[in-house]
Amino acid sequence: MKPQSQSQSPMESLARRAFLKNGALILSGLALSPLSRTVLGSINTNKRGAVRIGLVTDLHYADKAPAGSRHYRETLGKLKEAASQFQSDRPDFVVFQGDLIDSGKSLEQEKLHLQTVVHAISSIPYPKYYVLGNHCVDQLKKAEFLQGVGQKNSFYSFDQNGFHFVVLDSCFKSDGTPYGRKNFTWTDANIPPEELAWLQTDLKKTTFPTIVFAHQPLDLKDTDSHAVKNSSEVRKVLEQSGKVAAVFQGHSHHNKYSEIKGIHYCTMVAMVEGSGLDNNGYSTLDVYEDGSLILNGFCKQKDYHWS
Ligand SMILES: [Zn+2]
Repeated sequence: MKPQSQSQSPMESLARRAFLKNGALILSGLALSPLSRTVLGSINTNKRGAVRIGLVTDLHYADKAPAGSRHYRETLGKLKEAASQFQSDRPDFVVFQGDLIDSGKSLEQEKLHLQTVVHAISSIPYPKYYVLGNHCVDQLKKAEFLQGVGQKNSFYSFDQNGFHFVVLDSCFKSDGTPYGRKNFTWTDANIPPEELAWLQTDLKKTTFPTIVFAHQPLDLKDTDSHAVKNSSEVRKVLEQSGKVAAVFQGHSHHNKYSEIKGIHYCTMVAMVEGSGLDNNGYSTLDVYEDGSLILNGFCKQKDYHWS
C-alpha cells in the first residue's frame, strides 16, 4: 500500500488504513470505522502528539545487485517516498535505527554508499538522529561512520517537549572492542559496562518519560542470534528506572512486538526488504502527554496503539 499524499492526523490515517486493511469496512469521508473506535478508545488523537517522530530502519543502501529479498539500490526510491510522507507529517525529528548502508567491495566503496545515502537523506528537512547498526560499521570504523552522518557520539540522549529519548549502541564485541574493519561477528552484540553505567545515570537524572532507540533487539533471549547478548542486564536497568515506556529496534527486519514488565518492545520492518514501493516500510510515532503512543506504519510497517 502506498502512503497517503495528504497530511493526516493519526486518527484519520488509522481510520483510512482500517478501511484499506479490512476491505469490508465502509467509511464515509474520514468518519471513524467501528474498528478504529475500538482501537482508539477514549484518546483524542485528533491532535498531534506532544512529540512526533519519523522512524526508518535497516535501509542497507549499497550500489550492488539484489541478494535474496534485499534490494539494496531500491532503498533510494523508498527513502524518497518516506521523505515525501514526512514532508506532510512534519515530525519533530527523524531517527534512523541502524544499518543505513550495506558492505562494499572496498572501504572506499563503502564510504561512497554512506555519502550517497546521506545525500538522499539531506532532503529531509528535520533534525536527524542515527543509531549504529552492525552493517554501518562493517569496514568503516565508528568514528568514520559518525563523521559521515555528522554526529558526535554513538550512544547519547536528548529531550524534546517533556520527553526523554535515549539512543543505544550495541555494536561492541563481548570483550568491549567496538565493531569496525570487519573485526566482529554480527551475533556478538553487547552493551559494555561503561555504556550500561552511563544509561543507568542518564535514566536516574531525567524526570521525563523515556523512549529508547536501539538497533539489535533487547527483548529476545540472550541466546538468540539477533539479541544483544547481555539484553537481560540492559532490560533490568530500563525496568529499574521506572521511566522507560517503549523501546524501538530493528536488525531482524520483521514486525515483532512484545511487552516485558510494562515496557513495549517494538521491532520495525526493514526498508531494504522486497522490491517495489509496496514493500517499503517506515513510520511516524506520536507521543502524547497522557503517555499514549501511536505508531502510524506505512506500507509493510504495522500500526500500534498503546495507552
Ligand atoms: Zn539490517
